[in-house]
Amino acid sequence: ARGKTQLRRKRFADRLRNNFHKSIEMAISDPLTGLYNRRYMLSHLETIMRENATTRKTVSYIIVDIDYFKLVNDEHGHDVGDEVLKQFGVRIQNNIRGADLACRYGGEEFVIVMPDTDLSFALMVAERLRLYVADEPFELEIGPRKLNLTISIGVACSETLDETPAELMRRADQALYRAKRDGRNRVVTDAA
Ligand code: GH3
Ligand code: MG
Ligand code: MG
Repeated sequence: ARGKTQLRRKRFADRLRNNFHKSIEMAISDPLTGLYNRRYMLSHLETIMRENATTRKTVSYIIVDIDYFKLVNDEHGHDVGDEVLKQFGVRIQNNIRGADLACRYGGEEFVIVMPDTDLSFALMVAERLRLYVADEPFELEIGPRKLNLTISIGVACSETLDETPAELMRRADQALYRAKRDGRNRVVTDAA
């Protein structure tokens, strides 16, 4: 009888631990892609930018937006759209280093935060990701099977030690806006 009680206790403790891990996961990640969510990324960015003020390191910020993504949903349905987002999340994850943080910022927009990274390295990563999408169609088990897509990317690197996360993000957003305006499928950074 004692063995049974101990087993029950152990199961209870395991379940508690699992639930605990699940709620943490839900609080910090995006359920569709498994990448970090926007809120987590923002607190992470704030932390490393605060630390950088003393360590004098730069941080790079990359924002990625899938081109004409609405058409994917309109032409092939929302499930195909979701599958593309999932696979795109994997492609991003495969393209970054351990210290970099990838997040689904919302909809079909993704952000990569790269600590201790200068602009030229960030541009290299962004360009590699752009090619990885432009050159390799998405393979699907549903809908059209193969889908050619492109992405537009805005890149910014912290310029001064007192730059705020909001300023850094705004510069990257502006660069993304220009990438879209100039024809999409490109990487743009803001000329200082
Ligand atoms: P652009 O090249 O200017 O970025 O055009 P776009 O069509 O990608 O941009 P727009 O912002 O007009 O459309 C984004 C679309 O992304 C709209 C919405 O239907 C789709 N979307 C956002 N979140 C999700 C999602 O979770 N799943 C799916 N399937 N679609 C989503
Ligand atoms: Mg968008
Ligand atoms: Mg888009």
